[in-house]
Amino acid sequence: MKVYKFGGASVKDANGVRNVEQIVRQADLQDGLMVVVSAMGKTTNALERVVEFLDAGKEEQALAQWVDIIDFHVAIMKELGLQPGTDIRLQGEIPFDPTLPFDENYDQVVSLGEIMSTQIVAVYLLKQGLSVEWWNMPKLLRTDETWREAKVEDEISRNTIRAGWERSDRPNIVVTQGFIGGTADGKRTTLGREGSDYTAALLGNYLDAESVTIWKDVPGILNADPRIEPDTILIPSLRYQDAVELSYSGAQIIHPKTIRPLENKRIPLYVKPFGNPTADGSCICADGIGPIDVPVYIWRKNQILITMRAKDFAFVLEESLSEIFDIIHRNRLKVSLIQSSAVTISVCVDNTRFVPAAIEALQTHFNVTYNDHLSLLTIRGTTPEILERAKAGRTIMLSQTTRRTARLVVKEP
Ligand code: ASP
Ligand code: MG
Repeated sequence: MKVYKFGGASVKDANGVRNVEQIVRQADLQDGLMVVVSAMGKTTNALERVVEFLDAGKEEQALAQWVDIIDFHVAIMKELGLQPGTDIRLQGEIPFDPTLPFDENYDQVVSLGEIMSTQIVAVYLLKQGLSVEWWNMPKLLRTDETWREAKVEDEISRNTIRAGWERSDRPNIVVTQGFIGGTADGKRTTLGREGSDYTAALLGNYLDAESVTIWKDVPGILNADPRIEPDTILIPSLRYQDAVELSYSGAQIIHPKTIRPLENKRIPLYVKPFGNPTADGSCICADGIGPIDVPVYIWRKNQILITMRAKDFAFVLEESLSEIFDIIHRNRLKVSLIQSSAVTISVCVDNTRFVPAAIEALQTHFNVTYNDHLSLLTIRGTTPEILERAKAGRTIMLSQTTRRTARLVVKEP
């Protein structure tokens, strides 16, 4: 069997859904195809706004946003010849309960993007004469209750999903949601933004897929973001470990958690353009060519650099480190770079809503200063000339270089 994953950009309108049909038809359907779909276009962001408005007591704005989201989906359905209400039953009310914590409400509301997109894709494919079944991941992919970053419980998920897949009356194609799962008592959870790649990888692992393919709006894995660098180069093949490093540095190619489940079973991961399905794209696999021989530029945006200084002279680096990382871990910060000197430790982290609480906790032990509006640029395969060019005209807050890799924390313009 194979797993195909379609991201939000590939299903942002009716033509996108028609294109999914074309791509699916070119697959070998006899062996079974698992189709994992993200929310359509920017739906996840829009649903986040609904929860934020409701949380702030701005019901009118929430409702207006919600109506926009529903209208957007209804328009796509109609264009595809589907009947809202008959072919697909849409969620009537916003599943928000003011007595519950924000994060729990978030998961109940934001997960609906994938529910809607997969229903549309599944019903559309069915109406085009394909053999299709829609699967509801919240009932199949079991997670804990870490709202917004739920941990998948592998054993039970694997058993349930394998049992479903091995059913003798299973149709050739299964369409299901990326990014979402569910708790033992049936509540929906989300796995972290951009998590559908991870779902595709898990399903590939559980079902011993021959391969997993991620269909994207780029020709494959490029050495730089084409929106930033004018001349990008396609990297045709790379090893799992290189891919992990790239995505950890902030390359927007695949979700960082995607590689492990595939590497464990040596399942190749293809990244291909949905606009040109017969193109080779890139392949991440065990025998990928490495190390990559072109310089690779990776931007990780929205960073904050936090610097901790000892409050007294009894400063012991090891002790401070364990204290700092304990606080960082408890506050769910994502560290992108660490640097220490005799009396200071700096960490660069994603500037999320968890940062203020972490800084407060750090302040009880250290003198803390910070700079925000920063980006981290990682250049792999750098040379002195490349590094000079990258630094030109930029304010560099911190830099770390090894022979082949440079990491620059730069001020956002
Ligand atoms: N729809 C979710 C998001 O935009 C998950 C995904 O696209 O991977 O974050
Ligand atoms: Mg998305």
